[in-house]
Amino acid sequence: MRRLVVSSGNKNKIKEIKELLDGLDLEVVSKDEIGFEHFDVIEDGDTLLENSRKKAVELSKKIDYMIIADDSGIFVDYLDGAPGVYSARYSGEDGNDKANNIKLLKALDGVESKDRTAAFKTVISLVMEDKSIYEIEGKCEGLIDFEEKGENGFGYDSLFIPSGYDKTFGELPSDIKNTISHRYKAMKSLRDMLEKIL
Ligand code: IMP
Repeated sequence: MRRLVVSSGNKNKIKEIKELLDGLDLEVVSKDEIGFEHFDVIEDGDTLLENSRKKAVELSKKIDYMIIADDSGIFVDYLDGAPGVYSARYSGEDGNDKANNIKLLKALDGVESKDRTAAFKTVISLVMEDKSIYEIEGKCEGLIDFEEKGENGFGYDSLFIPSGYDKTFGELPSDIKNTISHRYKAMKSLRDMLEKIL
């Protein structure tokens, strides 16, 4: 059976990816599980694609299995796409979800609902055993609310109202988020692709 290594140290992410790829003729393991727990790359790219590709390609220089890596962020139209690739550290290197959300609300102070459009995006890079690279994107469009609502999820979830809903991801149950989110869509496309090539 072929092996696919997830180039991430995030345990929740790895669990989610294993579930989404369950049933394929593939052994899915994290980098930590094959002894690369100290392998890390600096995410200094200007795009999600640069970061996800760097995480996958750098690991592929050390092992010859299939590898995936992802990078995500929220892109607010009124802010010309900010915080985008810098979503995790929008309020500074020591920033956190709360500080990031406060900064985003401040940046949109006085902006009316129709101009608060945004999208979560995920890019997955897949490196094959022969080092060929595939890129896959997932996107979830919506609006930034006027205040934080709900306790579910993480990051910007309490501010993001996905299109077609009137509640934030923070308020919606996780099983709804997990079928419409940027990450789910990217993973679903990856699964469809793997089903064809395996
Ligand atoms: P990562 O690349 O998945 O680690 O995401 C980078 C950053 O984007 C996170 O630290 C969050 O600030 C934001 N982000 C990504 N995905 C989500 C999500 O599903 N909900 C809320 N925030 C997210």
